[in-house]
Amino acid sequence: MEPGEWVTEAAAGFGMTVEIREKLCCRKSQFQTIEVYETAKLGRLLMLDGIIQLTSFDEFAYHEMMANVPLFAHGGARRVLVIGGGDGGVLRELGRHPELEELDICEIDREVIAAAREFLPGTACGFDDPRVRVHIADGSVFVRDKAGYYDVIIVDSTDPGGPGAPLFNQDFYRDLKRALRPGGVIATQSESPFLLPELVARLNAATRACFRYAGYASIMVPTYPTGMIGMSVGSDGRDVTEPALEVPPELARQLRYYNTAMHRAAFARPNFVQDMTGGR
Ligand code: SAM
Repeated sequence: MEPGEWVTEAAAGFGMTVEIREKLCCRKSQFQTIEVYETAKLGRLLMLDGIIQLTSFDEFAYHEMMANVPLFAHGGARRVLVIGGGDGGVLRELGRHPELEELDICEIDREVIAAAREFLPGTACGFDDPRVRVHIADGSVFVRDKAGYYDVIIVDSTDPGGPGAPLFNQDFYRDLKRALRPGGVIATQSESPFLLPELVARLNAATRACFRYAGYASIMVPTYPTGMIGMSVGSDGRDVTEPALEVPPELARQLRYYNTAMHRAAFARPNFVQDMTGGR
């Protein structure tokens, strides 16, 4: 592949283009096309069905927030479930928490895990933690018989176009709530309000309908179209916008994005996002 070649994620009338050096992997699984590229400036890039999932350049921002916002909103989690997340990045961040006892992951596509292990070792190292149990299944089905089991459930899904579609339904949010222990917290990948306003509104309405406390947090991720992505967080236990604990110094030293101030600040919403996610 010649230097100067580019790949583009084109979706919702918008594009995100990255210069690449080499295509390392292109596989068609039962669910999606999996591509990994060596980029010119951003390290490795993972695409599923032409949609950017991560680059090694900025994945820390997304994964640290997806893991730590719900954990610190909870304050005493021991059992965590990740739905999706086959690249291992959320698991890697959860693995930094010695107090966690069970780290379950339910990923629908074993080929994503295999490709991540082969081509994205810095992210997929999350699978090496001995507490991790891998379940290959549709997350929307997996949670149905897990009543009252998890303290935190993190939904690190693809967009609703492919196998992720059932993870964006109101019924799924009810099932997530049922799968929590008292005081449990959910965090779900909730798209960009600039790119998909109707979907952001729907996901927030689903979270609010199910949980006493709900919030919509923004995460800066330069390589996602619009440069950011949202996360819906919900709990019946406590206000999720306020961390329950300080970050232990040993953990703080390892983190590049998450801290207590960023936890609170992420939930601040511009007026147009307030209008979209439950009013001012
Ligand atoms: N952070 C990424 C983003 O927002 O673009 C998502 C990364 S992660 C690779 C998404 C994973 O969700 C994929 O590996 C995909 O196979 C998985 N997935 C999609 N639908 C699923 C489902 N119904 N159950 C479990 N995993 C699912």
